[in-house]
Amino acid sequence: MSQREWIEKDFYKELGVSSTASQDEIKKAYRKLARDLHPDANPGDTKAEERFKTVSEAHAVLSDPAKRKEYDETRKLFAGGGYPRGGGFTPGAGGGFSQDFNIGDIFGGANAGDGGLGDLLGGLFNRGGTRTTSRPRRGADVETETTLGFREAAQGVTVPLRMTSPSPCTTCHGSGAKPGTSPRVCPHCNGTGIVSRNQGAFGFSEPCDDCRGTGSIIDDPCVDCHGSGIQNRTRTITVRIPPGVSDGQRIRLAGQGEAGLRGAPSGDLFVSVHVSQDKVFGRNGDDLTLVLPVSYSELVLGTTVSVPTLEGRVGVKVPPGTADGRILRVRGRGVPKRGGGAGDLLVTVKVAVPQKLDDNAAEALRRYAEAEKASGFDPRAGWAGA
Ligand SMILES: [Zn+2]
Ligand SMILES: [Zn+2]
Repeated sequence: MSQREWIEKDFYKELGVSSTASQDEIKKAYRKLARDLHPDANPGDTKAEERFKTVSEAHAVLSDPAKRKEYDETRKLFAGGGYPRGGGFTPGAGGGFSQDFNIGDIFGGANAGDGGLGDLLGGLFNRGGTRTTSRPRRGADVETETTLGFREAAQGVTVPLRMTSPSPCTTCHGSGAKPGTSPRVCPHCNGTGIVSRNQGAFGFSEPCDDCRGTGSIIDDPCVDCHGSGIQNRTRTITVRIPPGVSDGQRIRLAGQGEAGLRGAPSGDLFVSVHVSQDKVFGRNGDDLTLVLPVSYSELVLGTTVSVPTLEGRVGVKVPPGTADGRILRVRGRGVPKRGGGAGDLLVTVKVAVPQKLDDNAAEALRRYAEAEKASGFDPRAGWAGA
């Protein structure tokens, strides 16, 4: 059995088991099917006979762990785009191909006499990544960026984004043909966009020259887009930025990228978000941070300070004897989280030292310093011997 058949046949489906089925499950499923479909039990029933053959074939591969592994890997390789049939295959669309993948590694026996597969793959790999054709394909992803204010980013915001990018031509609606006419199927490649050429033992496929790989020929090109079906247009889209985005984050907006050529799906839009600094707040994940300037006496005696939050203000209690630099946590007043709720507000207290005191305050402070010494307070008590 060739690998081509492996790609086309779903043995798991034939046996009615999942692709993660155990060897035991496969054996059981096969036994039951073999019993039901056995030619002795279905004399003259050619359909049952066909099924019996298929099921036996499936069992022969899946019951052998080494063969099963090989089968799984071969199929996985072609999973994303499926087995390529005619046009419409998009390189790199999650098909698991790598550019420098060596076709000879698995399809060692592929030769010109083998028909389709070698040809198709030859063509696919020849073209991989460096396509110059304009056959229908998904539009490119578009990257753009936007700068948000700190609070906008934290709370979520709707912003307009102005972008110049190719869009379907409004005159021909993306067909590339003059209104009233339509493209015709390329007779040279029968609309596939690919022509085959044999060279030695291998069959190669290359984009059709007549239609430049598009599969269709436009006799009367649209005057506005010169037959490409696309126009550069500046558009403004409104983008909802969810709350809680952070600086440098990239947001994906599906289907908002470049238009696909000739009716193919659009690409995605990726918005890189820059968040400007705030004078008051900082961020640590979902937590909002804030430095609260306090006086020495407020730390010693304790106080309640009104501090700003993203929404309104909150009273933060500074307990008596709070050390400079201590972080006070206000639960739930931070940055909104995706799934609901919010982080915390982390308030760091920081002593503000007056640069100048009036005579009255200076005199009071001198008296305080003496009283402090007399009370036995020594700020460097822990330094004994240093
Ligand atoms: Zn046009
Ligand atoms: Zn052609």
